[in-house]
Amino acid sequence: MRRVHAPWVGRRRRREGDAVTDDLRRAAERFEAKVSPEPMSGCWLWMGPVSTGRGKGYGEFAFDGQMIRAHRAAWQIYRGPIPDGLWVLHRCDVRCCVNPDHLFLGTAYDNMRDAAAKRRLAAQKKTHCVRGHAFAEHAVITKRGHRDCVVCRKEWEATHRPRQSPAPSRAPEER
Ligand SMILES: [Zn+2]
Ligand SMILES: [Zn+2]
Repeated sequence: MRRVHAPWVGRRRRREGDAVTDDLRRAAERFEAKVSPEPMSGCWLWMGPVSTGRGKGYGEFAFDGQMIRAHRAAWQIYRGPIPDGLWVLHRCDVRCCVNPDHLFLGTAYDNMRDAAAKRRLAAQKKTHCVRGHAFAEHAVITKRGHRDCVVCRKEWEATHRPRQSPAPSRAPEER
């Protein structure tokens, strides 16, 4: 697919030079055998094992003696070492994509900010509330800058407004 970059892998092995490059080339061959390029998006979809449970949907790949996320392996095979504390993030938002061109390095904070921006974008694309009222007619902007459906909100308020509770009637005291 592309020439393996990186006469590095682990500082401890830098001196071994050629051996390291061979290791990487072999890793790249094993890696590419599990990749299926998707022509429309350009994503390299991971056909190997995929993580389950919390954080599910990420490819997994044995690299340098341990199972790691496949997109992190992609970075190391095609780009170079991942600096300490940095995350490998997806531009394309496809967890099982391992195309190095779709990946970028960022901090945990970048990851959160990126996810929030994508959520906002998805929210802006919505034209109707969950119950199908058009935002064009019924939207109000909330204090936090979100759009909210007036129709749904009024209904909710009508059913949830606390009743004017009658003054507690005290049982007549016995004398
Ligand atoms: Zn992708
Ligand atoms: Zn609504």
